[in-house]
Amino acid sequence: MIKNGCLLLLVFSFFSCHSGKILTVQQTAKPAVLPGGAPRYSDVCFSSRWERPRHAQDTFETFSAAAGFHATYLNWVYTTNPRFIQKADSLGYKLQVALTPTLPDLPFGSETNLQGRIVNKAGNSVTAPWMKGWDNWWGCVNHPVFQNTYFAYVRAALEAGAYGFQVDDPAMGFLLLRNKWEDVCYCEHCRRKADSLGVQPPDIQEASAREFHQKMKQQAEALAGRPVPFSCNNFEGDWELFPFDQFDFGVAEVPERRANPEYLYATIREARRLGKAQVFTFANDRDWLVQKMIAATYACGGNPLVPWDVWMGGGRDRYFGKPETYAPLYAFVRANAQWLDGYEDAFYATSQDDPRFINTQQFPVSFDEYRRQVHAFVRAKPDDTTAPVVVHLIDWHVLMEPFSIRLNERRFFKKGIRSVELLTPVDYDPGAHEAARASSDYSAMVASQSLSFTRDGDLIRLKIPKLNWHWGVLVVR
Ligand SMILES: [Zn+2]
Repeated sequence: MIKNGCLLLLVFSFFSCHSGKILTVQQTAKPAVLPGGAPRYSDVCFSSRWERPRHAQDTFETFSAAAGFHATYLNWVYTTNPRFIQKADSLGYKLQVALTPTLPDLPFGSETNLQGRIVNKAGNSVTAPWMKGWDNWWGCVNHPVFQNTYFAYVRAALEAGAYGFQVDDPAMGFLLLRNKWEDVCYCEHCRRKADSLGVQPPDIQEASAREFHQKMKQQAEALAGRPVPFSCNNFEGDWELFPFDQFDFGVAEVPERRANPEYLYATIREARRLGKAQVFTFANDRDWLVQKMIAATYACGGNPLVPWDVWMGGGRDRYFGKPETYAPLYAFVRANAQWLDGYEDAFYATSQDDPRFINTQQFPVSFDEYRRQVHAFVRAKPDDTTAPVVVHLIDWHVLMEPFSIRLNERRFFKKGIRSVELLTPVDYDPGAHEAARASSDYSAMVASQSLSFTRDGDLIRLKIPKLNWHWGVLVVR
């Protein structure tokens, strides 16, 4: 109790007594530079995990699907096909080619994974537990043949016009060791390197994986003559586990147990603190939950992958979301690039902030009622005292309903709040989406209304209508 009281007192003092003045949201928003090559806040990230159609019966086609969701960035694609990569480049997409510890042997098109592989003490090739039976043997980062194979994929991708790379299982052989799945690697190259250092082969795996990624990035950049972004699959958006921090940004799954706005906010805020960016992928049978996750991820300053061609586990079919279910949200993002890019995290409030302990009226945004469960993410242009401030509102209820909020004028602008505009996504109309795509004019993809408000001291009170697409953006001037 006492501990909580102190913490709350600290929060309160922070907001009320900073330099003897009221701290504004432009002051709490900190300037941030996205890591090189990371998606912008307004990018629409789309993954066709393979080039589609994959075979004669495959009804999906990568580029028409990407266009259907207004994609701008193609992530995590397993391909070595130069025609596919060139096409992505010519259509203006940034394309990330996927790399893994199990890349097949050369030449491209080979389906064997036998050369330059990790071996255990008994001299056998190894794989991860979930890959048993796939003949998917893991490559050794110290083996020149595997290094050569890996860089051949990098070279082919760059020469065809790929923008960067996504590395899955980036801990390489060290992952097998760390999880005690295998005691590795006893290939001749690992043995020799370990001997020269006077240690055992498993002892060199962590450092070797780090050196391997450094070397691949250096070689890629020397070849391309530019910075080449490498992201990795940092499961759940984690940055602590080796070797995630070595990568420019993360593209990772969020498991269902983490599918909530509090988790997204904490994770994405931490990524920004570390100078990283985060793309999340989430798929679920409940479309409305996926929609809420898309909205909340953007509201926090992350990028949610379009839920298309997503592995669902448990022997289920891959998930392919439909444009009518998700395109309105992504078109809304394209329409609102000016309210996303350049804006940084300034404040987060939920309708569960407890007014019994905190004077929530001091907050930039607060709620009259303690209830489940509305989330407000305030984003501002750092130190720009005149630019509009945006407040992303996410209704996390299964059944949405109207609600009211309060803005503390003194947290926004010296001269108070003049107007508040509510922007919301628009229901799906294929013709309108086609027209927006063709003209790059997305103005019809957003509904706008001016909200009237009442004043009560420093507070203004607003009634927010039901947010049919879970998401509303207030533009506060
Ligand atoms: Zn080895």
